[in-house]
Amino acid sequence: MRMPAIFLGHGSPMNAIEANEFSPVWRNLGESLPPPKAILCISAHWYTRGSGVTAMTKPRTIHDFGGFPQELYEVQYPALGDLDLAKRTRHLLASKAEIALDQSWGLDHGTWSLLVHLFPNADIPVVQLSIDATLDHKDHLELGKMITDLREEGYLVLGSGNVVHNLRASFASQDATDGFDWAKRFDLEVKKRIENRDFSNLADYDQIGDEAKLAVPTPEHYLPLLYVLGTAGPEEELSYVVEGYQWGGISMLGVQVG
Ligand code: ZN
Repeated sequence: MRMPAIFLGHGSPMNAIEANEFSPVWRNLGESLPPPKAILCISAHWYTRGSGVTAMTKPRTIHDFGGFPQELYEVQYPALGDLDLAKRTRHLLASKAEIALDQSWGLDHGTWSLLVHLFPNADIPVVQLSIDATLDHKDHLELGKMITDLREEGYLVLGSGNVVHNLRASFASQDATDGFDWAKRFDLEVKKRIENRDFSNLADYDQIGDEAKLAVPTPEHYLPLLYVLGTAGPEEELSYVVEGYQWGGISMLGVQVG
């Protein structure tokens, strides 16, 4: 059975432990999915020169943020790794990228802050694939295409980032529940391109409009979307599984393929 691929906005690390409008949506989404054999997560928070897949049997839970309540540092997500999935991913990407079998990373908060809601029992193995910062943006779409077979093999491809992610513009408005106008305009332009299946235009996100510089000041939160869309077949259904904003300048848009 072909598994879906899903891009989710993770937003604030506090989403891992706070009950808010997004947590029940993520929980229901996890319950709606056929149980995957394992999960390959492409997280904004593992942005590297060159690329790696986590290849340890017990990936550590990484608390890669500062200045949050102690409770958040105590969260553990004890999912196992999956060496077969790591090697399979490396093999599928071999003609385009040299992927290292990594022993030092683990699960960063881009991954576990969502998985604590999607799969709260942590009983499904998880592997992370890093995002190579040296590639062209279109290459990330291509890498997504190259891992499509994982979905046929029962693996869930999960992208974790945010379509709009501007912390600098957002810090002063942490109570905001609606998006800034420019954030909404950019989100809308992205959705138009998703609906038109104009994915290569999405890879050139800096051409999307004047809002692009504000919406995507750095690429790492945006790029996981391209991996997920890259796995889409020509007729495959695309749907929005989460919508909304945090802090004004963070889009929580979630997109499911299949
Ligand atoms: Zn983040």
